[in-house]
Amino acid sequence: MEMTDYMQDEYIIQRIKVYNCGCKKEKPRQVFKRSSPDDPEKLPVTCVLLKHAQKGYVLFDTGPSKMPLNRFQKFFGGNRLSSDSPSLTEQLEKDGVDPAKIQYIIISHLHPENTGGLIQFDKYFLISTEENLSRIRESKYKKLTHMRQFRSTTLLPSTNTLLNKYFGESYDVFRDDSIWMAGLNGHTKSMLGMYLKEHKLFFVSDAFLLRRQLDEISPLKYFYQRKQWSYPAYLSILRRLRKFHEEHPEIRILPASDIPEDLIIAL
Ligand SMILES: [Zn+2]
Repeated sequence: MEMTDYMQDEYIIQRIKVYNCGCKKEKPRQVFKRSSPDDPEKLPVTCVLLKHAQKGYVLFDTGPSKMPLNRFQKFFGGNRLSSDSPSLTEQLEKDGVDPAKIQYIIISHLHPENTGGLIQFDKYFLISTEENLSRIRESKYKKLTHMRQFRSTTLLPSTNTLLNKYFGESYDVFRDDSIWMAGLNGHTKSMLGMYLKEHKLFFVSDAFLLRRQLDEISPLKYFYQRKQWSYPAYLSILRRLRKFHEEHPEIRILPASDIPEDLIIAL
């Protein structure tokens, strides 16, 4: 993916880059009852790097781990993964980002393709909901993920009139209006989307799979419905995201497995 360069000093979020960290083994035609001829062949697993003017580098999710995933997946019931991409740290280094300088990692939800890559980092603050963080602290989870000790910041709800109109709780990560998280529970019990107000981007993680689902009803196959924490809640979030999309077309809604390659921004 290429970066588009333009200079804007006044932004708090000065750089955004999406990294592809492998692919889910499910293909769209295995997930949807009716797949579209335009559906991609694969569903990438992505994470997002941000550069915050004061806080430094921030990651939203970490991609899968390179270690054997069998037991990990059995425990978490996540997607089967193929990880044929270079590791996230290798990709960051290639872009001149020292992985040791990643200060904050925000976790959207506790599936292997979101948390597995944590093992590659050190000395970061892990940011998520109380529900997610308390589960991560369980010794079984730590053992399975080989996670080291970590420092954490629990998100506290704040008011965002735009997000609160459509979704559950919202969180102003650094209390500076730059990175907002929105509760999108359905895919998992406590799932977060990331809204970057300055850039009008809303990364919704696995709230749904393909951007076309915002415009057309695409029923999921039963096995994929079962993979959701609550399928009714999943559908409710999708309906609300559709309404949000209709009423705020200027904001791009991006599911983790369907992010356009031209999105990458370096400011
Ligand atoms: Zn997931």
